[in-house]
Amino acid sequence: MSTSAGQGHHDQQGDDGRRTGCSLVTRSPEETFAVGAAVGKAAPPGCAICLFGDLGSGKTKLTQGIAAGLSVPDTYVVTSPTFTYVNEYPGRLPLYHIDLYRISSADELSDLGWEEYLETDGIVVIEWAERADRWLPDKRIEIYITITGADERRFAITLFGDYPAVYEALTSRARLR
Ligand code: ADP
Ligand code: MG
Repeated sequence: MSTSAGQGHHDQQGDDGRRTGCSLVTRSPEETFAVGAAVGKAAPPGCAICLFGDLGSGKTKLTQGIAAGLSVPDTYVVTSPTFTYVNEYPGRLPLYHIDLYRISSADELSDLGWEEYLETDGIVVIEWAERADRWLPDKRIEIYITITGADERRFAITLFGDYPAVYEALTSRARLR
């Protein structure tokens, strides 16, 4: 995996006006899983992780890693919640895995209990986060995944808010290589 830390800068985004970012590349599904695990280990209570990227880019693979990082027992198989929109898994913190692929408009969000999930102390992972439009929380982690090769994926990560442990986990992985 190779990583470059973006320049931390301040703007009007996020609760406390803080926004930092970094980008990295993985070259296998296992590496993506490992990135997810690092994020899951470091994620603080109430953290919303918004995933963007085409079908097959690795959103679910990354989420499986996040679950492992949260110590979700591996008797649970983490898959995209196709018929339910939301799957819940017990871990160090509860994991709420939401997939918005099938919603037809952001109006449906309140029916699936959107606000309640975002108010918990658990970790919320949202696939197809763009479909939530302006209803994404101000404080959040955005991860854009691009398919750059058969087994290569590029991750552009922006932290809207203060997530020092997550930032450290993402950037320290690169320093080990
Ligand atoms: P999504 O949830 O975005 O539709 P999935 O995680 O379900 O994507 O699927 C990603 C697919 O891409 C899997 O079949 C996985 O094996 C493959 N793949 C190949 N290289 C990578 C990589 N570097 N990271 C993640 N997945 C990869
Ligand atoms: Mg998926």
